[in-house]
Amino acid sequence: SQIMSRGLPKQKPIEGVKQVIVVASGKGGVGKSTTAVNLALALAANDSSKAVGLLDVDVYGPSIPKMMNLKGNPELSQSNFMRPLLNYGIACMSMGFLVEETAPLVWRGLMVMSAIEKLLRQVDWGQLDYLVVDMPPGTGDVQLSVSQNIPISGAVIVSTPQDIALMDAHKGAEMFRKVHVPVLGLVQNMSVFQCPKCKHKTHIFGADGARRLARTLDLDILGDIPLHLNIREASDTGQPIVFSQPESDEAKAYLRIATEVV
Ligand code: ADP
Repeated sequence: SQIMSRGLPKQKPIEGVKQVIVVASGKGGVGKSTTAVNLALALAANDSSKAVGLLDVDVYGPSIPKMMNLKGNPELSQSNFMRPLLNYGIACMSMGFLVEETAPLVWRGLMVMSAIEKLLRQVDWGQLDYLVVDMPPGTGDVQLSVSQNIPISGAVIVSTPQDIALMDAHKGAEMFRKVHVPVLGLVQNMSVFQCPKCKHKTHIFGADGARRLARTLDLDILGDIPLHLNIREASDTGQPIVFSQPESDEAKAYLRIATEVV
């Protein structure tokens, strides 16, 4: 690829960070960021001794600020590193903290790469046990560059059970394999909707496409998240479900995924 031929610096750990878990998807809108946020919260909830961070490298459409109810400019440390913003016990960094919310991100490739470099290398995380990284959707330069710049413990791939999403998830899994990032498994999102009134279940995007893909690729299914109003509302109001309704079945699904990935 282009990036390879430009010659990247060797993989170097992020200072203070023990394990990096990336959350990726083939296409947008399948629930990648929602999964990243709730996974970070679930990792911290399952083991209160662990310090957890969340890094949003989805530079074109950063959603972590809204989902984690954070905004503002990160302070700079003495060595000019950006300090993450903190909410619900999670240290967060996002391109969304560095640009205006409504600013159009019509960036050239090189600007994107320098933004990524900044987010990867100029954040003062302190000490973290887990850093959950919300990747942009797809398999472009950013995903490749992140995968090649830092050591990654594993990738979680999110997909709906719909064919088009699965095809792209398949490509995502292949990309990680090519760059030797272990794929921890697939999260099947929005697989079932249960009518709150009549309890009838509908498989809006298909029933178990991600399970089929997992079999094809010899990957685990890490969890199955239903399509649920509470998940969407919780995200939109900046009160992610694992934080705001930890006893709900939906939150429990994320808490189980967190036990699978570490
Ligand atoms: P992506 O990061 O893949 O683009 P998001 O996590 O931003 O996707 O999710 C897209 C939209 O779908 C958001 O409004 C989010 O709240 C909603 N959403 C994600 N997962 C679910 C779910 N399981 N049930 C209901 N809404 C969901």
